[in-house]
Amino acid sequence: MRVVITGGAGFIGSHLCDYFIKKGHSVVCIDNLITGSLENIEHLFGNDKFLFIKHDVTNFIHVLGKVDAVLHFASPASPEDYLRYPIQTLKVGALGTHKALGLAKEKKAVFMLASTSEVYGDPLVSPQPEEYWGNVNPVGPRGVYDEAKRFAEAMTMAYHREHKISVRIVRIFNTYGPRMRLNDGRVVPNFIYQALKNKPITVYGDGTQTRSFCYISDLIEGIYKLLFKNITEPINLGNPTELKIIDFAYLIKKLTGSSSKIVFKPLPKDDPRQRRPDITKAKKMLRWQPKVSLEEGLKLTIDYFKTKI
Ligand code: UDP
Repeated sequence: MRVVITGGAGFIGSHLCDYFIKKGHSVVCIDNLITGSLENIEHLFGNDKFLFIKHDVTNFIHVLGKVDAVLHFASPASPEDYLRYPIQTLKVGALGTHKALGLAKEKKAVFMLASTSEVYGDPLVSPQPEEYWGNVNPVGPRGVYDEAKRFAEAMTMAYHREHKISVRIVRIFNTYGPRMRLNDGRVVPNFIYQALKNKPITVYGDGTQTRSFCYISDLIEGIYKLLFKNITEPINLGNPTELKIIDFAYLIKKLTGSSSKIVFKPLPKDDPRQRRPDITKAKKMLRWQPKVSLEEGLKLTIDYFKTKI
């Protein structure tokens, strides 16, 4: 297969590039590098199955030759990034999805949208099944990401219904691992960096809010399986092991052997109180479930961050 991966120089995108190449496919990676980095893909540059195009996918996307699948993964994805780039976040979710769908239609390719657990907003239902419609504040600071992704899902379904293109929608829950940016502001890089530097670990709010963390290799396997199944409805991918952010702070402290203090900072506006994927569908329809335990995955991630500090 020849696959186009938008956002291919980002955290998840670059792991996807690696995985498709490893499986013998050709990859066209498109990224404008505002939050992605060439460092994530530089090891692929000598490979004749890999092509990098620096391009902002909110503009018309032109790819020469055949394309079998378009995986639209371009977007700022950490709350700090999408607050820093609110308009780009809205544009890549809306215009970028439109352009990526246009490319898939032109090439008669399968289209996959990287959606998010943020479509559920601050969920009133837990764990979150795909049938839940969410609790999103459209005018809050996170609205730029949440609404862009909700629009992107609607646009994907419209192209499916109107133009009959084959689509997949993956709702990705918190994922972590090597190649997350040290300064992307998310809890995993923040806590690991702070712990390794013996600086205060910054817990936002009282730390009773929950998240469920999935290791990158598990996510990538789920995405790959989904691409090859004819499943149009959204599928949650994530690790259902839920923990409080305060307990996550203690776990990072323990795994790094850090002497950091834990300090409390204000909770960002509309920060979801709870998040845990219901992965019943993925288990049944993809025969997928996460294999890497939190401690195991965090150890690999901590080793990576050690090389970056
Ligand atoms: N968080 C925290 N300290 C930090 C960064 C994040 O306590 O230094 C909290 C944040 O408020 C949220 C959770 O950790 O409740 C996960 O935040 P993240 O930015 O990783 O992504 P989110 O899951 O909110 O999209």
